[in-house]
Amino acid sequence: MSIEELVKVENLRKYFPFKKRIFSKKVRYIKAVDGVSLSIKKGETLALVGETGSGKTTTGRTILRLYEPTGGKIYFGGQDITKMPKKKFQKIRMQMQMIYQDPYSSLNPRMSILNIIAEPLRELMVKNIEDRVLELLESVGLRREHMYKYPDEISGGQQQRVAIARALAVNPKFIVLDEPTSALDVSVQAQILNLLENLQKEKNFTYLFISHDLSVVRYISHRVAIMYLGKIMEIGMVEQIFEKSQHPYTRILLESIPVPDPKDRKRKKLRLPGEIPSPLNPPSGCPFHTRCPYAKDICSQKEPGYVEVESGHLVKCHFAEMIE
Ligand code: SF4
Repeated sequence: MSIEELVKVENLRKYFPFKKRIFSKKVRYIKAVDGVSLSIKKGETLALVGETGSGKTTTGRTILRLYEPTGGKIYFGGQDITKMPKKKFQKIRMQMQMIYQDPYSSLNPRMSILNIIAEPLRELMVKNIEDRVLELLESVGLRREHMYKYPDEISGGQQQRVAIARALAVNPKFIVLDEPTSALDVSVQAQILNLLENLQKEKNFTYLFISHDLSVVRYISHRVAIMYLGKIMEIGMVEQIFEKSQHPYTRILLESIPVPDPKDRKRKKLRLPGEIPSPLNPPSGCPFHTRCPYAKDICSQKEPGYVEVESGHLVKCHFAEMIE
């Protein structure tokens, strides 16, 4: 693991047991995350993109050990944290925070903003709590007057700012942002993205940015990983994914981004047929073969490995570099 890498996962798997009937002895497994390997450098934003059910949120939660992994390795700051005993892990866990999609449900409605942000500070035995809360509120663009309000007395954008301030209270290094703007109005989305970007520049935060919205991802990320059925299909720098994508699934997702002038599109328009298959019963071979317009016989028989089409740009497809 290079010194620059803060987070690294190798062959990460998270399977959830599933019984068709409650008394049935037969247990099957939902393979929500199935062999994910990635790393994130200090101060970098890696976006994890995919449809609902692709496993992106489960990947984020498993990296933080909110779900215990079924297999694979997780490293944080060079330390293997996969099976680190809870007590030892607690200290490291403080440096890893998560921001959720719906800010309101992540804030206790019975607590004032002051108490919401003060809670982790009290655990850390911070002195002059009110001063520190005010500092944190100001760092996310809020003011003293917000301290005494309750979550339902402020707007959605302000609630998300409070959730960010609470995450910052413990001086984290790594933040998993799970669709942090998708519940907000478009005008507020840009403000929150700007805030996250500025905080990163100021404090050198490392972000895992989970999203289904590629237009947001282009704006905020340094690198992008495209997920499908628990696996990464393509990963690369933001320009490699947006300008030189090689995987059919990535291309189809890019086609779905609205563009002001449809003549701007250089490539043939592709459509994504059908629904994402169940992770309980994933397709054989390439997981995307049931929906891929380029699928050939080999695709249902053999799972493709990763082809490095450019430095750091990996594509999981038998025909990488051959698809026009
Ligand atoms: Fe499509 Fe085959 Fe490539 Fe999978 S391996 S993405 S099915 S062409």
